[in-house]
Order: sequence, then C-alpha cells, then structure tokens
Amino acid sequence: MAIPVILTVDDEPQVLNAVGRDLRQHYRGEYRIVKAGSGVEALEAVQGLKRRNDPLALFLVDQRMPGMTGTEFLSEAMKLYPDTRKVLLTAYADTEAAIQSINSIGLDHYLRKPYEPQEVFDVLDDLLEVWRDTVDLPYDGIRVAGTLWSPASHAVKDFLAQNRIPYQWLDIEANSEARELVEATEQGEHHLPVVFFPNGEVLIEPDNRTLAEKVGLQTEAKEAFYDLIIVGGGPAGLGAAVYGASEGLSTTMIERHSTGGQAATSSRIENYLGFPNGVTGADLASRAYAQAKRFGAEILTAVEATKVELDGSYQRVTCSGGDVLGCRALVIATGVTVKKLDVPGIADLTGRGIYYGASLTEAAYYKNQHVYVIGGANSAGQGAMFFSRYANKVTILVRGSSMNITMSQYLVDQIDENEKIEVRTRVGVEEVNGKEKLETITIRDSDTGDVETVPAAALFIFIGAEPHTELVDGVVERNSAGFILTGHDLLKGNRGSKMWPLKRDPFLLETSVPGIFAAGDVRQGAVRRVATAVGEGAIAISFVHQYLKTV
Ligand SMILES: Cc1cc2nc3c(=O)[nH]c(=O)nc-3n(C[C@H](O)[C@H](O)[C@H](O)COP(=O)(O)OP(=O)(O)OC[C@H]3O[C@@H](n4cnc5c(N)ncnc54)[C@H](O)[C@@H]3O)c2cc1C
Repeated sequence: MAIPVILTVDDEPQVLNAVGRDLRQHYRGEYRIVKAGSGVEALEAVQGLKRRNDPLALFLVDQRMPGMTGTEFLSEAMKLYPDTRKVLLTAYADTEAAIQSINSIGLDHYLRKPYEPQEVFDVLDDLLEVWRDTVDLPYDGIRVAGTLWSPASHAVKDFLAQNRIPYQWLDIEANSEARELVEATEQGEHHLPVVFFPNGEVLIEPDNRTLAEKVGLQTEAKEAFYDLIIVGGGPAGLGAAVYGASEGLSTTMIERHSTGGQAATSSRIENYLGFPNGVTGADLASRAYAQAKRFGAEILTAVEATKVELDGSYQRVTCSGGDVLGCRALVIATGVTVKKLDVPGIADLTGRGIYYGASLTEAAYYKNQHVYVIGGANSAGQGAMFFSRYANKVTILVRGSSMNITMSQYLVDQIDENEKIEVRTRVGVEEVNGKEKLETITIRDSDTGDVETVPAAALFIFIGAEPHTELVDGVVERNSAGFILTGHDLLKGNRGSKMWPLKRDPFLLETSVPGIFAAGDVRQGAVRRVATAVGEGAIAISFVHQYLKTV
C-alpha cells in the first residue's frame, strides 16, 4: 500500500519550504509530503495522485493565493478526494471566509497565521487519526473506469479477467469520483474505458495487445525460428507447450486472447483427473500457464496467428502485427466457438435453466421435470439419452424434417425406443422467459406458423460448434464443417490416398501436411473434453519427436 500523502499549498516559497520541512520532520516516513506553489499546480498534483490511486490524507492550504484561493482549490480537489481532511491557513482578515467554508466545503479546521508549530501538529495529528480510522485505504491495483453496458468496457474487463489479471471496476454512472477522474484525463470523457495503472499511467480505450504489454504479458517472440510452434492456448495448446518445452524443444505458443480457451470460461470443471472437488477453469489455466513457462515455453498473448505457409519442410506462421515465425513442427490447437442461439431472453437465462452442450453436472438437478433439447445431431441425441435418466420427459426440437440425416442410426433407434423422449420436427424456439430461472419457451411450427408457449424446466442447446481453422485454409485437409482431418481419417474414404503424400502412414494427430499436427476440439471427431484436449496436446509432442527424426 502506498504511503498516504499530505499536500501543502502556499504561494510564498519560503513559507512553503518551512511548512514542508516541519511536516517532514514531524511525520517522518508515516506520510509523504507533497508541496505546491499555487492552486493550479496543486490541482495537477491531486489529479496525478488520483491516477495512481494514492491515498491523500490531508490538505494544508493557504487561503490567500493569486489566481485561485485556498477554498476554491479545496472545493475542486474534494471532488476527487472527498474524504481528505481540509485545513486552511488564514490571515486575520480571512477569518470570515474560513468560517463560511466550514459549511460550504466541510472545512475541518482553520489556523490563523502566525501559528506555533506545536499548535498546528496538535490539530493535524487529531485529524489524521480520524482519517485513518474512517477511510478505507484505496485499492492499489489496476482500475478500469467505464460504463456497465458498453461493449468496449466489457472487452477490457473480459480480457483482464480471462487472463487472470486482478482489477477494480469503476462505473462512472454510479460513482461521481470515478467520473471526475475520467473527465480529468485527456479525451477520457469521450473514450471509454479508461484504465489506470498503479504507477500513474493511463490507457484510454486500449486494444488487447496494448493492454497485454502493459500488464506484462509477452506479445513478441524472442526468436524468429523455433523447433515447435503451437497455435492456440487452450487445454490442448497448454498440454503441448508443457510437454514440448519440458522435452527440450524450443517452443512458443501463440494465443489470440487468453490462455485456457473455453475451459477457462467454466466456473467448475468436475471431471478433470486429480481434482475431486472440481477446479475452476481459471485456476486450471493459471497453473498450466505457470507450468509451461517454468519449462521455458514462450507464451504470446493477444497475438493471433493469421496464416500458415509451408517453406520446404519448415512452416511459417504469420502473426497479427506482421511478425512471421518459422518452425520445424507446428501444432494447431485453435479449438472451437460453440454456436449461440440468438433469440430474446437467452442471454439473461444462460446458466439459469439454459445451457450450451450437455451440462452433465446440471442434469441431475432436473430430476422428474420436463426438459427440452435443441439440435438434430449426435451431440443432441446423446444429451437427450443422458437427460432421460433424470427427467420425466425430454423433448427434442429439430429444425429439419427428420433426425435421420444428421444423427447416427443407432442413436435414432435408441431415441425411438425411449418412452421418455419425444421428438418434434420442423420447429424452432422463438423466445425464452423466466424471472429467476427459465420458466417457459415459445415454439414456432415452421409448417403451420402456429406459436405456443410451454413450461420448461431446462433447455439444452446443441446447435454445433465452429472450428477456428481459417489460418490453415488451403494448407491442410479439413472436412465440410471446417474441422481438421488427422491420422487415419486421412486414409479413409474415396479421396483417401490423395490426401496423404508420403509412403508412411500419418502419425496419429498428424494432418495432411507432414509436420503439422492438430490437437483438441479443432480436430474432426474430437471428444471435446478438457482431459482429452490436454492428452492430445501431450501425445502430439510424442509424434513431433518421431516426425523430426524423419526430416
Ligand atoms: C462453458 C464451458 C464449460 C465446459 N466445461 C467442461 C467440463 O466441465 N469438462 C470438460 O471436460 N470439458 C468442458 N468443456 C469443454 C472443454 O473446455 C473443451 O473441450 C476444451 O477447452 C478444448 O480445448 P482446446 O484447447 O482444444 O480448445 P479451446 O479451449 O477452444 O482453446 C483454443 C484456443 O485457441 C485460441 N485461438 C483460436 N484461434 C487462434 C488463432 N488464429 N491464433 C491464436 N490463438 C487462437 C483461442 O483463443 C482459444 O484460447 C467446457 C466448455 C465450455 C465452453
């Protein structure tokens, strides 16, 4: 915690120096003494202190100063520091002004000049004691000031939170001190959010990369060429980074937003080995990050890999910002984004009756209730079968005219035989409603246009996931949905032999380009679990070693 400040203001240099010296001697190290020769200079000092969020305990201010009187200064300064004690030094003729200030600005005391130092310190000691007892000392970390519903403010908070950087949020609509602080920064009132750092530096509406650099995350690679580059810093990427770096490969991992990927957004992962009480995604990500760094992996954050190219038997990765990095082997671990259902009410009720994917831990909560599932693919069918163990009825809502085209026949058969499961085709959800949690959903029949609102305990959404594979477009083989083909998938089917150029079979997790591997959710057929993603990251490294022996 920073040392609290006493700010003394006087336009006569000799008096200012003498007061400063006396204060310093009396408070030695307990308070930091800051001096200013005018009201304007003092206001600048106050703004600087506020930007750093330094605690300001006391103003000791001369009343009679050219340009701005002591009371004028105090009434401005207290907008930023309302709890700071205020003492005015007055000449006899200013006594009336000082007395009025007690009411108008809540002056704590006035001292008539000339005064005895002991008289001053008796007063100041009392005031400082009260200040210490009543004031919550300010937060001395990063502060983000903005408005609650602004997307730019959300983006900054999200970036810091996902990267596990602590910060304090200041809502300028609810906090007048924060508003004053923002307005005192250049452009701040027009550009939000404003980010204040403990050293007094300020960033206005920063992009992720600037923010990452400022908080000490690495954004530039130290070398131009590595044994191994990993794109994507989710569980698969982190798994690969830990194994790659610990097994002696010079390794860099490129992550466009925050390490941990989807897993870091989970409030509790219950099925990851070794954590019987579950673990938050953020905790898991931060442990893995530290582990990869400890083994010497470089981790670039807020850097997007935009293109992969081949350079003989090497690979080149172009990064946002223009850097091009080369490597001997590449692991693509860029994961997926779960598709979101865009209908009124969804955002508010997500996590409160509405879930994306098979939220297995929630299923038991809906025992003997009626739950709904949206989706016609295998994941929806598996989910419905699972929920039917608990719920008394499961209704699957399918947009198409049948599930047979998109779902495996064995699942369609199981669903047909399951008395608890009902399938409704050619329907869509129009709206969801509920106060504390989901209560009803509104369904539209595509053929008749009829709309009905039905009670629903839960709605599980399985409308697919989009892989992040644009960067390898035209480089490695992908399926029609964009997922990367690996290992034996490259040898299957009619196109099989054309997809793989070498005589040897591809290694497990190797893509159609020898030396480029894929791990985690981005792969065709991935299991989409944290443990499998981590495991695939680790296995990929074993095949990287085998591959490197061949070139
Ligand atoms: C809310 C939620 C809860 C979950 N709960 C569980 C659970 O309890 N148990 C469980 O086993 N599984 C759970 N899962 C699934 C699990 O999180 C995923 O299967 C796992 O995270 C996949 O890891 P991944 O590394 O393959 O991909 P991701 O986690 O998707 O990570 C990919 C990373 O790559 C980055 N990236 C993408 N493109 C680029 C690029 N061009 N350049 C640089 N970086 C890029 C992304 O920013 C991301 O950080 C959950 C998923 C979600 C969304």
